[in-house]
Amino acid sequence: MGAATVTPALTSPVNAADPKQSLPLEQFEPRSTLHTKDTKVPRAAFPVIDLHTHITHTGGLAGAAGLRFAASPEECLAVMDRKNIRTMVNLTGGYGDDLQQAIDKLQVAHPGRFLVFTEPAWRKAADPDYSKTQADLIADAHHRGAKGLKVLKTLGLYLRENVTTGKLVRIDDRRFDSMWDAVGAFGMPVAIHSSDPEAFFLPIDRFNERWEELHAHPDWSFYGRDFPSNRELQEARRNVMRRHPRTQFVCLHVADSEDLDYVSECLDSHPNMHVEIAARIGELGRQPRAAYQFIERFQDRVMFGTDAIPGGKETPQQIFNDQLYEIYYRFLETKDEYFDYAPAPVPPQGRWKIYGLGLPESILKKIYWENAARLLNI
Ligand SMILES: [Zn+2]
Repeated sequence: MGAATVTPALTSPVNAADPKQSLPLEQFEPRSTLHTKDTKVPRAAFPVIDLHTHITHTGGLAGAAGLRFAASPEECLAVMDRKNIRTMVNLTGGYGDDLQQAIDKLQVAHPGRFLVFTEPAWRKAADPDYSKTQADLIADAHHRGAKGLKVLKTLGLYLRENVTTGKLVRIDDRRFDSMWDAVGAFGMPVAIHSSDPEAFFLPIDRFNERWEELHAHPDWSFYGRDFPSNRELQEARRNVMRRHPRTQFVCLHVADSEDLDYVSECLDSHPNMHVEIAARIGELGRQPRAAYQFIERFQDRVMFGTDAIPGGKETPQQIFNDQLYEIYYRFLETKDEYFDYAPAPVPPQGRWKIYGLGLPESILKKIYWENAARLLNI
């Protein structure tokens, strides 16, 4: 049973009079007794660019499903206006006609409010002339108005030599060199998600701190089989950044949010690397002192994103609504203690809570707006 599906009606199946009776984990919903501050932050202190959202999506590796809108632009704009979000970046715009549709309905229809990124044509990746095709598709996407390139974790974890079968294709495979160079030449940043939380590479057993999340989504596990390790994926991405110094890379989800020393080392050695924080305030917020130091040190290269999916229900930490943004703002702007990183009865990414960073205004401005604006040329 998924953590989010536990019903509040299930008040006391365990007999309070018999404390020796065991309690199933999915029924355990402890309520903190700490008396702490609950600061409401209904609007961000400064205008925001949400660099990481999924308003549209396409079929992925499986087949050409065409472009689908998870919400109308108007539905998004209502939340954006209430939450002080000036611009939403829709990363999953696809390519070709799909991309054109996303650009027309979002970027062209609502200037300044939405930006659209293109995606690689994964299903063509096994074609002998893919390198050239992909570089041409980038030129086409740039011509249509795409502002950057999104690379899902598909690369490294799903894409195989025959698209869905055969050996996994490496992130630093040479067939993509022309793509990385083309986006660099057009000044289009790459938003790249590689790997996943470390727990997804470990056995789903009683020692796994994300047992409930993996129990609810067993297909999220990359343990065993022929999957590379988290570190191998990270290092392959570093090879790409090293080989394409004129291309700007935004490593999504803080690159590797559980190992900020490693990410710091990467940022030190790759001046073309940046990070954004989407869906990782649960990680940053449980190591608030290290996270503060990290953000302070790399304040010109950290960006705001949420990974918001309008209408999404599966993952409470990504549902596009007012509450989602209020939690991010509370985390970044206040020094509140021990609060939920997602609106759910049980923390969906692991049973812990987070602490606010209370960042100064000078840094908030950079994270909310300036760093992304510079990269996106707006
Ligand atoms: Zn995403």
